[in-house]
Formats: sequence, C-alpha cells, structure tokens
Amino acid sequence: MNIKQIYMDANALLEGHFKLSSGNHSQFYLQSAKVLEDPKTAKLLADALALQIKESGLEVDTVCAPALGGLIAGFALAQALDVRSIFAERVNGEMSIRRGFEIKKGEKVLMCEDIITTGGSAMEAATVVKSLGGEIVGVAALANRGFCKRENSSVETKANCKLPQDIPFFALDDFTFEIYAAEVCPLCKDGSKAIKPGSRGN
Ligand code: ZN
Repeated sequence: MNIKQIYMDANALLEGHFKLSSGNHSQFYLQSAKVLEDPKTAKLLADALALQIKESGLEVDTVCAPALGGLIAGFALAQALDVRSIFAERVNGEMSIRRGFEIKKGEKVLMCEDIITTGGSAMEAATVVKSLGGEIVGVAALANRGFCKRENSSVETKANCKLPQDIPFFALDDFTFEIYAAEVCPLCKDGSKAIKPGSRGN
C-alpha cells in the first residue's frame, strides 16, 4: 500500500508553497482529516495500522485519542482492533477524560492520533489516562512527521520528540519534510508566494 499516494489522491498531502498556522513556510501540507473523509479509506488505513500492531504482539484493551485531531483515527483503529474507543478532550486548556468514560486499573491503553508531530497532545492525554489507573502500552498514528522514531522505520528520534522511548510507536509512514522560518524560506527566495492551506475558512 502506498500511503503517500493515498494521501495525495485525497488531497490530504499538498505540494506547493504553504504558510502553516505556526507562521513557518513549507513545501508540503498534511491534512489527515481529508484522507479520513472517505470512510472506506479510513477503514483501509486503520486496518493496515491495526495489522502492524497485531503483528507486534502488543496487547491492547482500549484506544484513547486526544480530540479533535485523533477522534476519527482512534475510532477507526479501535474498530479494526476490536477494542473499546474513548477520547480525551481539552477543557479550559487542560486535557481531561469526560463523558462517563471509565478506565480500569491496569487497563492497557493505546494512544492514537491522526498525525504525530512531537507527540505533545498524545502524551498530555496519556498523563490523564495514567492518573486514572490506565497503563499506556503504545502510541499509534496514521502519519509520522518524522520527529519520533516509529516501529519498522529508520527515521531517528529528534530532540523535540515527546513520546517515551520505552513503548512502541506505530505509524503507516514517515512524512518528513522541512519547515522554514519565513525569512529564510528558499521557496520565497525563488520568488513564489506562500499560501495558507484551507484558506476558504478552516
Ligand atoms: Zn516561503
């Protein structure tokens, strides 16, 4: 399965000259929500991710996703693994588990995101899961931005990766691309102008 091609076909991986929400510029833009808008594609990707996890022998009771980004990927992955699906959400900036979701002591929880950049949100949610008695057994994502080392990849962990090194991280592919401060952007130097992706209102 060519994951990047699936992203390209769904307009979830755009190539051009983009201004990111951080203000930095990039030649690529990754929007996993676009690849998940087709439930059949979501299932295809989640099944592939679940297969990796099953083959590793990892035992999972529950998938927990940080809202909003991880919701669809988390649900689809839980379905593929045939386990429970819950989510964490931010309330006044603090990640929390609400909606009556309960976590048993020692329950094996796999954190799931659509994209792992540094893994910050996933780890914030994981801290809450642990405080409720859950055991974090791994992290999963459809796409890895290349700052963290995942299973079955030679991409090395960068200094800003927030995922713990003692649990496995599963993702379908590495989407490693440079981002530039606007002042030093080589695409700007070549004379093109950065556009904001999703500038029609999202
Ligand atoms: Zn630029």
